[in-house]
Amino acid sequence: MRMGPLELYKKLPKTNCGDCGHPSCLAFATQVVGYGQDLRDCPHLAEAALQEVESIIEEQRKEGVYVKQDNHKITRDHLREKIKSHDFKSIAPGLGVSYSEDNGLVTLKIPYFDRVVSMSHSGILAENSEEFDPWDEVLLYNYIFFAGSKPLSGDWVGLENFPNSLPKRAALDEGCHRRISEVFSGARTALESACQKLGGTRVVDGHSGDLAFQFQPLPRMPLRLLFWDEDREEGFEAQSKVLFNAAAIEYLDLEGLTFVAEKLANKLIQIKKGGT
Ligand code: SF4
Repeated sequence: MRMGPLELYKKLPKTNCGDCGHPSCLAFATQVVGYGQDLRDCPHLAEAALQEVESIIEEQRKEGVYVKQDNHKITRDHLREKIKSHDFKSIAPGLGVSYSEDNGLVTLKIPYFDRVVSMSHSGILAENSEEFDPWDEVLLYNYIFFAGSKPLSGDWVGLENFPNSLPKRAALDEGCHRRISEVFSGARTALESACQKLGGTRVVDGHSGDLAFQFQPLPRMPLRLLFWDEDREEGFEAQSKVLFNAAAIEYLDLEGLTFVAEKLANKLIQIKKGGT
């Protein structure tokens, strides 16, 4: 039996709760079948369904059926090769990361959300045997590959302000803005608490919004989250928007900017739901 995304979707809870980090069960099914995401990342999958489909998915992966992660691997491996020629010592200050050399092993320490990632010219050195989300790897290699050094600006802009961003705007709205607005609608205090737990700093002026927090996912990649809570009397739904530093495009491509904002949304939602 072959199991594509639709077949797997039928076995999922179909609640679109977002706990797996995706906006819908179908998006999750697509990632599991095509891109190697762990089925157990859905915490609501019944044990019987898990038993039924896990071995099928595993077999398919071994046979290479439906597997599209090669594209991702190609991107990751390509970037990993590219950074080998980078002079880590010279790019470290511009990227805001620390550089060290020990017995010939050159390493960068990259603060990434709530952890610090080590990277040598051979690639990311996972700490504590912790497995890396492959998309995080692509993002981090991209950050090093870009080797940005332009000083950050005092201006904050939406993704729409960057050239050629139209194709990514819908993804950002779907994967970040809409999810934050829905999950935290009527729960401004919960959002404030989640922002603080994630290390965000409250921004007190210069922005509209009921709540504004600044985060530092990467040293030269600050993000600002603006949130307007619902107003039932006036008939307004909750809204949110992520702003980037106007120089952000010097440090990541549009794909990377979108990913890092979605990652922020995932982390805030996980905190609200009692995760890490
Ligand atoms: S965790 Fe993901 S796959 Fe599972 S029910 Fe929620 S949205 Fe669907």
